[in-house]
Amino acid sequence: MRAITVRVPAKVNLQLAVGPLREDGYHDLVNVFHAVSLFDEVTAAEPGDLGDPGRPIKVTVRGESAAEVPADDGNLAVRAAQALARSAGRSYRADLVIDKAIPVAGGMAGGSADAAAALVACNELWGLGLPVEDLMEIAADIGSDVPFALLGGTAVGTGRGERLTPLETAGVFHWVFALADGGLSTPRVYGECDRLREARGIGAPQPTVSESLLAALREGDAKELGRALCNDLQPAALSLRPSLARTLEVGLELGALGAIVSGSGPTCAFLAESQAHAADLAAALANDPACSALSREAGLSRSVVTAFGPVPGAVSG
Ligand code: ATP
Repeated sequence: MRAITVRVPAKVNLQLAVGPLREDGYHDLVNVFHAVSLFDEVTAAEPGDLGDPGRPIKVTVRGESAAEVPADDGNLAVRAAQALARSAGRSYRADLVIDKAIPVAGGMAGGSADAAAALVACNELWGLGLPVEDLMEIAADIGSDVPFALLGGTAVGTGRGERLTPLETAGVFHWVFALADGGLSTPRVYGECDRLREARGIGAPQPTVSESLLAALREGDAKELGRALCNDLQPAALSLRPSLARTLEVGLELGALGAIVSGSGPTCAFLAESQAHAADLAAALANDPACSALSREAGLSRSVVTAFGPVPGAVSG
């Protein structure tokens, strides 16, 4: 039985600038994506039997948070494989297995990552040989964050976030992520962002990329990068999950160079000076009485993990 396994990274947004709500219901964004070494694996295999002819693409999800992920056509990996088969004009079959390590609904684009991995795996399994540019187009139709999961590295996304320009970076950045129990729905966080802006009478400016962030990335300057991290969705995520404010504060008190809610949250990202500093920071955060008390009360920080970036996008191997 042939099987192709693809490893795909999570992302953290180094900058997420949210513009006004567009007529199509999306916001114009400037989104600086950064792929980090927290990976899901997606395996696509030829089905062993004829199976259910009505369901040519099937999925099994494994891992701690598997129960939170749909195992039917609502799974983004299945939708990606179906879109790829449609674009090839044939009814291909595949059994997909997702080994999930990226937090679900954590603001780290795990579902989009699985969709990107399924595109790469099925492209190879079915012998389609589509170039990455074609996969990028299919990816953009599935979701705004899917093209970046194919590309990896560090990139700025404009439009809905799907028009990508890779960014030059120097060195490696070390991160700590405080994962939270219970996700935040991305549409709900955007809705709260609009509500807060309206209630406070804040008009949304056209989003622009932060020059200090670009300079910090070019120079590999972690201190500057820590200062430049910014996320326009953070006030909305904190409004929906107030306990996250304390998590961010604790990380900064413990010496993080920067602390930010990742995307729509609730995962919190902390930038460290080095790998050793990231390990110390992760241990301190996990042991911090405020964090563990909060985690007991509010189901907050289920676990703390370290990772580094940038790393490549979805690759088979
Ligand atoms: P983003 O950062 O792109 O806003 P997220 O990290 O907050 O996304 P995901 O983990 O991508 O959120 O998933 C959001 C929802 O999508 C989940 O609650 C789940 O119901 C659904 N979903 C569909 N397919 C998947 C998948 N393969 N993995 C995870 N969630 C999936």
